[in-house]
Amino acid sequence: MMLKHYRKEFRRPPNPSAKHLRCVAYLDENISDVLPYLNTVLRGHQYITDPPSLTLKFNGKLITIYSKEIAINIVKDTVEADKILEWFKKEINDTWKRRNQITPSFSVAQKPGIINILKLLPKTNCKECGKPTCMVFALLVTEGKKGPEDCPQLDVRNKIKLQEYLEQF
Ligand code: SF4
Repeated sequence: MMLKHYRKEFRRPPNPSAKHLRCVAYLDENISDVLPYLNTVLRGHQYITDPPSLTLKFNGKLITIYSKEIAINIVKDTVEADKILEWFKKEINDTWKRRNQITPSFSVAQKPGIINILKLLPKTNCKECGKPTCMVFALLVTEGKKGPEDCPQLDVRNKIKLQEYLEQF
């Protein structure tokens, strides 16, 4: 197991009227070696090599993972912070365990991948979106000309997944 323990601390944002908190978890272990693998698995929003850090967009939050810290810009309370930190702890440990099967990535994706989009579409080529095929639709999504809401056949689950995927770019 790469990450075993952390200690969290909450900080008030500079704006006194803000209701949310910031949370920083101080890690007992140095996890910098897992960051490029985690970048592949979680598709980071920003990856910096020196000093190593990986920033992710996650449910409207910005979360930055450093060698010995995880910083979350917005949390409601301890319960929410614990939920996020435990999820990341699991992802970090799972990713590290599977690292031999993962190609590490030292950069961030510049553009959504057409295949990743196509995988989430119904692939029926029904033409209800006004396009001849799902592939053409997916291509337009990569260019930002179409979005999840433009495919009437897309179910809610995949609509959310596609939205979250596109938010990384
Ligand atoms: S409406 Fe959706 S399922 Fe139908 S062709 Fe367009 S992208 Fe494919």
